Amino acid sequence: MTETILIVEDELSLQETLAYNLKKEGYAIETVGDGRAALEAARRLKPDLIVLDIMLPEMDGFEVARILRKELTTAILMLTARDDEIDRVVGLEVGADDYLTKPFSMRELMARVKSQLRRTRLLREEMGKSDSAEVKHETLKFDNLVINLTRREVMLDGSPLQLKPKEYELLLFFAEHRRQMLSREFILERVWGWDFIGDSRTVDVHVRWLRQKIEADAASPVRIVTVRGGGYRFEG
Ligand code: CA
Repeated sequence: MTETILIVEDELSLQETLAYNLKKEGYAIETVGDGRAALEAARRLKPDLIVLDIMLPEMDGFEVARILRKELTTAILMLTARDDEIDRVVGLEVGADDYLTKPFSMRELMARVKSQLRRTRLLREEMGKSDSAEVKHETLKFDNLVINLTRREVMLDGSPLQLKPKEYELLLFFAEHRRQMLSREFILERVWGWDFIGDSRTVDVHVRWLRQKIEADAASPVRIVTVRGGGYRFEG
């Protein structure tokens, strides 16, 4: 089944670039250039993903996301241009699934799009809406480390790893954001959620546990590396 992506972007050249690149990947694309048209198109299309710019005529991306969140389960990938927007995007009030800061590369965009669509597919399978009786096992492979998304199972050198649920979620989050610097705060918000009472040391502890399980030498990690003063980066 072809997946549908709604692109909401008022900068025409960027809108065209996004549409061109996503069409090339085989997605069905619809483009709009303002907030009101975005609402109308989203309700009509019920797309699998919305790529949503923030600064838009008529109604901004924050407002569009807030309204659509109440109506649809569609994943929303927001495009931000300024640092002060990021705070609101990852904030409770908007609830975007992910965001990209302009300028970004098409490779980066494609990785995020695929990751969001994969989540959507899995969510639907879990909800029993899959029209295929045969269960397709989706996996992410990083050399000898294989994450089976359908079974929520992780194999290292062909043997299953015993991971706690949060360790699994953290590893999956890293895998979906490969080679991106992720701050402890961002990881905490996205993996543990907003209502979690604790601090970023929770992340450090889980990273240490994960390293003991997936690194050849947990004392000199090469998969989950520490970024000085920042957070962590998953190298694969
Ligand atoms: Ca804009």
